[in-house]
Amino acid sequence: MPELPEIRTLAEQMDRELAGSRITAVEVDQEKCLNRSVDSVRRGLVGRTLGPFEAHGKWIRSPLAEGGALAINLGMGAEVRLPRCAEETPENYKFRMHTADGGGLFIRFWWFGHVHLLDGTGGEGPMDRLGIDALDPALDCGAFRALLAGRRGGIKSFLLNQKNIAGIGNFYAHDLLARSGIHPMRPIPSLEPGEIGCMYRTMRDLLEASVALGGADYERDLYGRPGGFSRRRFIVGYREGEPCGRCGETVVKIRTGSTPGFICPDCQPEDPPGG
Ligand SMILES: [Zn+2]
Repeated sequence: MPELPEIRTLAEQMDRELAGSRITAVEVDQEKCLNRSVDSVRRGLVGRTLGPFEAHGKWIRSPLAEGGALAINLGMGAEVRLPRCAEETPENYKFRMHTADGGGLFIRFWWFGHVHLLDGTGGEGPMDRLGIDALDPALDCGAFRALLAGRRGGIKSFLLNQKNIAGIGNFYAHDLLARSGIHPMRPIPSLEPGEIGCMYRTMRDLLEASVALGGADYERDLYGRPGGFSRRRFIVGYREGEPCGRCGETVVKIRTGSTPGFICPDCQPEDPPGG
């Protein structure tokens, strides 16, 4: 499932390849991925010019020069390709957009995703309810602390809720918490100021490191190339039964709410001494 680094990689490539292009045709074989009827989306896109592409959490948005915007979310994952880099025949891609310069965008959702046409008035979709992007320059350590202030519940479910912070999913959350020495089920009020500061720096370092490598290696970019960030970089993530990359204790897999979690019992005590 693509998270912030993979989505940001795709958005940067879409910006390079598609920004400024005029849309000439739109074909949709999976109407439920749209927020309007196929005809309405086609009318709203064909003949319009794509603006700059920007990532916000797990969403990609491109304002149209004539007003409104195209917004894309890949859900559990998708094959997103330039037509010239498509591996399948075109009809296997359930959303196909063509541009005047012979380019375009093909999307094949693995399960379910979204292609929305926004009219720019706000209050019309999940993008309006997203929290700040985890790599937004405005999210400094003070702003991160402010997001956690007064909150209850477990830290991991807070981080995964896109309305709090946008872009973090299960893949990066394991090591974000492990490298910060925080158990995923720790109640937010139990976190010490030093732990929150550590978590903030770890979040930025981890996500920035993956962005620099083009995202995770199990996802592919607009050209069909895998990212360069391997899970071998993790100290606990997906390493059940292996030694923790920091202390050597055996990594265990636990239930953390509705998602599995990988933790080091030594680095991430559920009840820290003095906590
Ligand atoms: Zn450890």
